[in-house]
Amino acid sequence: MGSACDHDHDHGGLGGRDLDQALSAAEARCTALGERMTPPRRRVLELLLAEGEPVKAYDLIARYGVDGTAAKPPTVYRALDFLEKQGLAHRIASISAYVACAGGDQAHAAAFLICDCCGVTREVATPADVALDTAARAAGFTVERTTVEAHGRCDACRLAA
Ligand SMILES: [Zn+2]
Ligand SMILES: [Zn+2]
Ligand SMILES: [Zn+2]
Repeated sequence: MGSACDHDHDHGGLGGRDLDQALSAAEARCTALGERMTPPRRRVLELLLAEGEPVKAYDLIARYGVDGTAAKPPTVYRALDFLEKQGLAHRIASISAYVACAGGDQAHAAAFLICDCCGVTREVATPADVALDTAARAAGFTVERTTVEAHGRCDACRLAA
């Protein structure tokens, strides 16, 4: 997505061997679950991993083709839907963007720390989903997906301000 400010950040996108390894690991995980990592799913995950930050769906559509051609929107949306279900990517509703999962071997609750200055987003483990799960169960409800979104300032922006 690129920074909105000039503050100094490490955006953590993957490239080269790291990217290949992450894609292979994701593929192996899909196979183990009896799912197929089709070329569109793999390509969308590749774009998310390479960016390392949340990306808007229309940017994924625009960057989809290696030769610069855009994808058909349903191709990308279906791939995102799959990646989200497998816990390989998360949708961050408050900024309408998608990000590759930073950890976790299965679908899990995700908590994001989102910098409103530069847009840097970190996924962190949260015990909040356990508490929510307990409360939901008591209310006769089964939680299938939780995403916590916390907005604020990253250190790079806070210290530079
Ligand atoms: Zn995750
Ligand atoms: Zn920031
Ligand atoms: Zn900033």
